[in-house]
Amino acid sequence: MSEERLRIAIQKSGRLSEGSFDLLKSCGLKVSRGKDKLYGRVRELPIDVLLLRDDDIPSFVADNACDIGIVGQNVFEEERLAGEHDAPAVEVMPLGFARCKLMLAAPKEWSFDGADMLEGRRVATSYPELTRAWLAREGVNARAVMMKGSVEVAPRLKIADAVCDIVSTGATLDANGLKPVAEVFDSQALLIRNAADFTPGKQAVFDALMKRINGVLTSRDAKYVMMNAPRDAVAAITEYLPGADAPTVLELAGSSDKVAIHAVCRESVFWDTLEDLKKLGASAILVLPIEKMMA
Ligand code: ATP
Ligand code: ZN
Repeated sequence: MSEERLRIAIQKSGRLSEGSFDLLKSCGLKVSRGKDKLYGRVRELPIDVLLLRDDDIPSFVADNACDIGIVGQNVFEEERLAGEHDAPAVEVMPLGFARCKLMLAAPKEWSFDGADMLEGRRVATSYPELTRAWLAREGVNARAVMMKGSVEVAPRLKIADAVCDIVSTGATLDANGLKPVAEVFDSQALLIRNAADFTPGKQAVFDALMKRINGVLTSRDAKYVMMNAPRDAVAAITEYLPGADAPTVLELAGSSDKVAIHAVCRESVFWDTLEDLKKLGASAILVLPIEKMMA
């Protein structure tokens, strides 16, 4: 039944789309795009995909044109603060990709020593609500001036004194004589849904999708870690391993004081982690990727 297909909105092209398509792919879902490229279908589960501009996604989900969507936390929160919907879309969970920061940037010649410097000034931004909320938190009286694009040219054109924008490398700011001075909002991709209950049919599809997404997210950072270690260091090492359940401890042939430890670490294993494990007496440390995991 067509009305039982779950409709998901994702960004058509841009900084969210690759991560969104990758997530669906990791969930075993292949999106076949229609001729108009605005609409895709998934065969493995009854899911339809709408390909939109990211700015339209929160409204489409709030208005029930889509059931769920993937959008940047920055856009979602800006829309929520603008309060244009009686029943705005609601957050399901963060997805861990498209991480970026909304930063306040000021002319390089300012020796910025706090938000107070903005008192009575103008800040150009595509995110006036998030900017206003931050200014209010900082107790500063400044104006957020809405600009849809090319925010970083505003100070040169004397439209504003500072800007508030998404910063990745800082190169664009630098080219315009600006420097990032304060973090306003920390963002990543978010799964959102319509606020109303789904029909039982849609709920079942949603639950199946959530199970797969959770599986992908938990195995994404997870690693299978193996090492040799002194028998009396097992407790300390177990304590140290990031997000590990009880590890498997195995005898090593021909050695009575050393054992092998195998563990699934659910959180990121960094080089620092390995250095620390070595300090605890571990040797021959191997870190292997995990392809799939189900609790
Ligand atoms: P659209 O054409 O869909 O309106 P856009 O140009 O508004 O796209 P993009 O630049 O594709 O938007 O960014 C989409 C979202 O990706 C942003 O709202 C933000 O959440 C996130 N994002 C922006 N810049 C970066 C970055 N450098 N790295 C990671 N994520 C980013
Ligand atoms: Zn956009």
